[in-house]
Amino acid sequence: MLKNKIAVITGGTRGIGFAIAEAFLKNGAKVAVLGSRQETVDKALEKLAAENPEWEVIGFCPDLTDYNAVEACFNEIKNKFGKIDILVNNAGISAREPIEQYDPLAFKNIMDLNVTAVFNGCKAVVPMMKEIGGGSIINTSSMVSKFGQPSGSGYPASKFAVNGLTQSLARELGKFNIRVNAVAPGVTRTDMVAALPEEMVARVAAGIPMGRVGEPEEVANAFLFLASDMASYVSGTILYVDGATVN
Ligand code: NAD
Repeated sequence: MLKNKIAVITGGTRGIGFAIAEAFLKNGAKVAVLGSRQETVDKALEKLAAENPEWEVIGFCPDLTDYNAVEACFNEIKNKFGKIDILVNNAGISAREPIEQYDPLAFKNIMDLNVTAVFNGCKAVVPMMKEIGGGSIINTSSMVSKFGQPSGSGYPASKFAVNGLTQSLARELGKFNIRVNAVAPGVTRTDMVAALPEEMVARVAAGIPMGRVGEPEEVANAFLFLASDMASYVSGTILYVDGATVN
C-alpha cells in the first residue's frame, strides 16, 4: 500500500507509533522514526532490523517543540531518502491531575508537545510536500477530543487543538493535494495504559461497547489507510478507532 513512499513518524519508538512504523514498513514504505532520546531510537531501530533486515528505516531525536530542530531533521531525512510523502505526528504525553493540583508548567509542557510539535511538523513538511505534488499528514488525536475527560484537562484540551489544526490545515492545503487527517484512538494497550492501575483499565474496558481495549496494531491500520492512496479523497477527517466508545 505504501510502495515508494517515505514516511516520518514522531514518537515512533514504542506504543502506537512503533506499530505504525511496523505497518508502514510491511507495506513497502521507507520510514524515519523520531523519538525523545537517542537510546530509545536505537533500541527501536534494532527491534525493527531484527524483524526484517531489509526494511529501510532511520532514526532521529530532535526536540519536536523547537521548530528549527524539526526543520533541520526533516531536511536530513529528505537528503537521505529524497522526499517526504507522509508525516505522522504521533508523539504525545497525557495528564490526569485535577485542576487544583495541575502545575501550570505541566499544562504548558503538554501543549508544547501535543500541539506545538504538531504545528512544527506540519509547517516543516508542507513545502516538501508541495514540491512533490502532494502528501498525507496524519495527526494523533484521542477519543477524549469529543467530550473531554473528568480530570487532567490539559490532555483533552490539547487533542481538541489537534482536531482544530487538522481540520483547518485540510482546508488550507487541499488545493495542493496535501491531505490532513487525524486518528483518534480509544484506550489502547501501550505504556500510557500500562501505567494506569489494572482495576482502572478493567473498569474502562467494561465501559467500552466492544468490551476490550484496542491493540496498537488495530490503531496503526487506520494510519495505514489514511497514509495510502486508498484514502486519496479523504481529508479533514477525525477517524475514531475506539470500539464505539464515543461514536
Ligand atoms: P507512548 O507513551 O507509548 O509513546 C509515546 C511516544 O512519544 C514515544 O515514542 C516517545 O518517545 C514519544 N515522546 C514522548 N515524549 C516525547 C518528547 N518530549 N519528545 C519527543 N517524543 C516524545 O504513547 P502511546 O500510547 O503510543 O501514544 C501515542 C499517541 O497516541 C499519543 O499522541 C497519545 O496521546 C495518543 N493516544 C494514545 C492512547 C492510548 O490509549 N494509548 C489513546 C488515545 C490517544
